[in-house]
Amino acid sequence: MFWSSIDWQRKLAARFIRFRSAGFVTVELSLPPNPGSQAPSCYVPHTDRRFRPPPAHRQTTVAGTDSPPEVRRLSFWTDIVGILSVPLDYTIISQSAKRAGLVQMTKIVKLGARAGRLARMAKLLRFLSGSYLRKAMKVNLVIIFMAILLPLIEFFRFPMQDHSPHYWADHVEGILENYPDDIFDAVRDLQQFYDGLHIFPFAVDLYMANSSQMVRFDIPAPSVPVRSSDIEVVAGRNGLATIHFSFRTPNLQKAIVTISMIFFSVLLMILAPAAMSRTVGHLVLAPMEDLLACVRKVAAQIFDSVERLALYFVQDHTDMVDTHVEAGSNAGFGREIRLLTKVLTKLGLLNQIASAKRPVDEFEQLGQGQRRLLLDYTTPAALRHQHTLGKEDSLEQEVEEYDALSESIGQALEKVEIQESDFDSWEFNVASVNPGQRLAIAHCLLVLYDSSPGFPHGKPVDLKGYKCHVAFIKAVEAGHGDDQTVPYHNFTHAVDVAFTLRRTLLMAQAEHFINLHERFALIVSALGHDLGHFGHNDAFILATNHELALRYNDISVLENFHCASLFEIIAQPDCDILVHFNKMKKNEIRMVCVETILSTDPSKHFDRYGQLQSAYGAKKQLFEYMTKSVAEEGLEIPEEIGKEVAEFFRNSDVKSVLRDFFMCFADCSNALKPWVTCQYWADVLFQEFFKQGDRERELKMPLQQLNDRARVNVPFSQIHHIQFFLAPQTILASRMMPGLVSCEDYMWENLHKWVQKWEESQPDPEKYTEVTNRIEQMKRRAVTTPSNIHGPSLYLGH
Ligand SMILES: [Zn+2]
Repeated sequence: MFWSSIDWQRKLAARFIRFRSAGFVTVELSLPPNPGSQAPSCYVPHTDRRFRPPPAHRQTTVAGTDSPPEVRRLSFWTDIVGILSVPLDYTIISQSAKRAGLVQMTKIVKLGARAGRLARMAKLLRFLSGSYLRKAMKVNLVIIFMAILLPLIEFFRFPMQDHSPHYWADHVEGILENYPDDIFDAVRDLQQFYDGLHIFPFAVDLYMANSSQMVRFDIPAPSVPVRSSDIEVVAGRNGLATIHFSFRTPNLQKAIVTISMIFFSVLLMILAPAAMSRTVGHLVLAPMEDLLACVRKVAAQIFDSVERLALYFVQDHTDMVDTHVEAGSNAGFGREIRLLTKVLTKLGLLNQIASAKRPVDEFEQLGQGQRRLLLDYTTPAALRHQHTLGKEDSLEQEVEEYDALSESIGQALEKVEIQESDFDSWEFNVASVNPGQRLAIAHCLLVLYDSSPGFPHGKPVDLKGYKCHVAFIKAVEAGHGDDQTVPYHNFTHAVDVAFTLRRTLLMAQAEHFINLHERFALIVSALGHDLGHFGHNDAFILATNHELALRYNDISVLENFHCASLFEIIAQPDCDILVHFNKMKKNEIRMVCVETILSTDPSKHFDRYGQLQSAYGAKKQLFEYMTKSVAEEGLEIPEEIGKEVAEFFRNSDVKSVLRDFFMCFADCSNALKPWVTCQYWADVLFQEFFKQGDRERELKMPLQQLNDRARVNVPFSQIHHIQFFLAPQTILASRMMPGLVSCEDYMWENLHKWVQKWEESQPDPEKYTEVTNRIEQMKRRAVTTPSNIHGPSLYLGH
């Protein structure tokens, strides 16, 4: 401890100490030459170091809001002092170890700087109030006292250099030289002077004038010091008189005080930081640790969740997912930072993946159990996933049975004079057959897809054996309006849609992703999708407050009605075509029927188109590659691509979109057939529209746009219909299922024909140019990418 050394205090004197009212304590220190030696061992010229001990009243207002300028801050000056003290440590001191005074100076200076820093640390508590503030004040005061005031006490504890011994040495010597006879009186005076003081002479050595010998006079004293350090020998100017003083008492006092101060200082130095540490710990560290624990917990939760999500989403990004979870450990602060960093990284990764993939992909990544759990939230979805995730019907078995069945079907068709090749032709016009042929076609379509176990499989049978199918077909036929009452939405349209649907399924090779009983459901839906139609559309039904609108709450009224009518027929025991299916498949078939028939509501067209576009976008690269290879090598799709596409189509959501698409595609396929067929259907369709228009006129209702026989231009409305409604969907679908691409040819051809027919009516040239330009543009884009094609917001009927 620096103050255990006492040498420096002898050399150090306080010249003056001045207190200023502003709270400054200016201590000007100088080191006078040591009077006890010939040459000063250390001399520091007048120093102008200004100590500014932390003013107590300022420290007590640590919670105050006033902040003094930097130059008036204690910390500023303590730092300055601290910096100045550094060279003192390394240059002067290293040169002369004897300059102990300077060592102490340096230490004091550094002490001041340290006190400043400690006081600043104590200011951490400045945001507190009440008892905590008082505690902070105490800590500050203890620091100031310990670091500044205690050393200052040292300055005053020891007496100034007492000049009396020298005076007495000179005085005794003077008497010896001038008045040798009075020497004993002088020695007695000396003894009396120091009588009762804590330093006292105990011997005087004199060189008498008449003797060359030194004579020692012992002076009666309370004690004679044993240790030489307690003895101070003071000689006169000429060295004739030397007085031996005992400094034992002041030295003893100094030692006691020094030891006490060391002890006290050590105690304070231990207690003050401990107290402060406890306070800071209580006020700052504990809440911070709570906060960090909370952060750690939340981060761990986020981390776990993200980890699980990431695993679902990124089966093919496994290298990007760090599966190492460090949550729950308490290995210090760095752990939280790392955890948070990882969470953020992972969230970034998820974001990247989520933005790159469609929801169907995310769902696809789920395991079967997790998918089931999610889907079970809704009963319809639960049913859907059953037939989606259920065991696929064996394709090989289906082919085998089809071979056997086709013989029976061939015989049945032969009876009604329909060629098998016509039955398998896209170009075949169902509208051109007689009622008996129509029934036979419907019957064959139904039997072809019926995989229920109630019938002999694998061998030729008489189709009459399918009695309930015959009854069902007859009931469905009876459920439709006759050709006169309902020119378009009659049984012929129903059979045409079912027929076209079968062709579409075959062209799209749907057997690879749609189960046999689902395809059966689609055929049933096609036959019944307009069941009970009476030639008026939804808008008319709503406008006339029809009872069906009341029953179905104005929502897809006709479609609900058709579907309900279909299942009313199936509910009849002799028409129950589902009788041989097990309960699960029955449910699934009904599910598909309801879904697809309701999806024929024209107002849902653009939603469905959007869903198809999403599905395309999800595997855009795959479809683009497939389109390219089909364009180069024909319809032989490479096996690995075919497998991947089929796998994608088997996803329940995608498959649902595709089922609806097939249904509606077949329903609106007129313009995709040869021109004669196309023209026929357009003709009967507008007959029905105009009939409704006549009825609207009768009822004095506003006529719907397409129903006014006096104003509608059929070719132009067909151009509009193909351009905005049919073409985008067909192009997109043929990019996803290249087998459908041949339909496009008929579509463009028919469009061209309609334009020719439109020309006959001498349209406005400007409008004509606009339309033909748009068609050319559309054809050009169709060659490149279908995703550029967007449907209009206007539906112009079919
Ligand atoms: Zn229809």
